[in-house]
Amino acid sequence: MNIRDVFHASPHTFSFEFFPPKTVEDGEALCARARALNALGPSFISVTYGAGGSTRRNTIDLVCRLQDELHIVAMAHVTCVGHSQAELRAVLTELRDRGITNLMCLRGDTPRGQSHFAPAPDGFTYAHELVTLARSMGDFTIGVAGYPEGHPESPNKHRDLEHLKAKVACGADFVTTQLFFDNRDYFDFCERAQQSGMTVRLIPGIMPITNYHQIVRFTTMCGAHLPQALQQRLEPVADDPKAVLAIGVEWAARQCEELLTHGAPGIHFYTLNRSLATQRIFAELHTSSVAGLLPPATGRGVADEE
Ligand SMILES: Cc1cc2nc3c(=O)[nH]c(=O)nc-3n(C[C@H](O)[C@H](O)[C@H](O)COP(=O)(O)OP(=O)(O)OC[C@H]3O[C@@H](n4cnc5c(N)ncnc54)[C@H](O)[C@@H]3O)c2cc1C
Repeated sequence: MNIRDVFHASPHTFSFEFFPPKTVEDGEALCARARALNALGPSFISVTYGAGGSTRRNTIDLVCRLQDELHIVAMAHVTCVGHSQAELRAVLTELRDRGITNLMCLRGDTPRGQSHFAPAPDGFTYAHELVTLARSMGDFTIGVAGYPEGHPESPNKHRDLEHLKAKVACGADFVTTQLFFDNRDYFDFCERAQQSGMTVRLIPGIMPITNYHQIVRFTTMCGAHLPQALQQRLEPVADDPKAVLAIGVEWAARQCEELLTHGAPGIHFYTLNRSLATQRIFAELHTSSVAGLLPPATGRGVADEE
């Protein structure tokens, strides 16, 4: 199913992101967690694309498996890193031929050890070029990435927004944001996007914190900031996983409630292939003022071992 049709049917979407497993065992564990999260009634799930396309096959296989086994609407991420245009055309052809109709079109991060992004020979430099190619190749629903705090390589938020507008002008149907922990960044981003004439959905991306040291690494890498109030709560319990999880869930649930109350068109959860934190956030939201906006749960998921 096309995510565009999901949008027509519902003003709010709740989606979960996974990364492709590297081993058969990891794949089985992930499918069990995806099944648990599927009980929450997500609108769609998405699967990331490994740096340089190294796990490309795993991305495509996992999307197909989740579509076929869980009957869930699924989206494959694709990045430009390391691919010529001919290779990207082949990837998109395979996705289309295997019945994948939803794409998240990305440039991808600068590979480790390189100072700036260099396209592959005859490859693309920016995501908007991939959007244009995908738009010309099939009836895909296309998502692109947006950055409430600005993309780290961008000189300023204004220029970054211009580049986001270009992706939409080339055919993107919606935007999913980079993770953020201060909702003011998202609300400001939406205001600027709307003032610039953008009308597509800007779906906020939320990452429940389950590991303090990991989140410090992530935020440094992707240019998001950890609010001082959150950092002050996490630092003293940094090596106590249960305490970190409890704070992470509480913070994310409050973020989601405020976002939905003030008009966000749903939430995209960066699950990091775990299910417990997202399940707990849903449980909190089901007892909150935004419970009526949540999808009806289709069953009771089994909590994982985190
Ligand atoms: C929702 C989401 C999902 C993601 N999934 C993945 C994934 O599956 N795999 C993965 O490897 N990474 C993923 N990423 C990370 C992403 O690849 C990086 O953030 C990457 O650095 C930028 O990708 P982009 O598609 O936003 O690039 P672009 O939109 O091309 O932007 C990259 C930089 O170039 C600038 N720019 C854009 N166009 C122009 C122009 N015409 N002239 C000058 N500058 C320009 C932008 O302002 C920005 O600074 C994801 C990020 C998000 C938010």
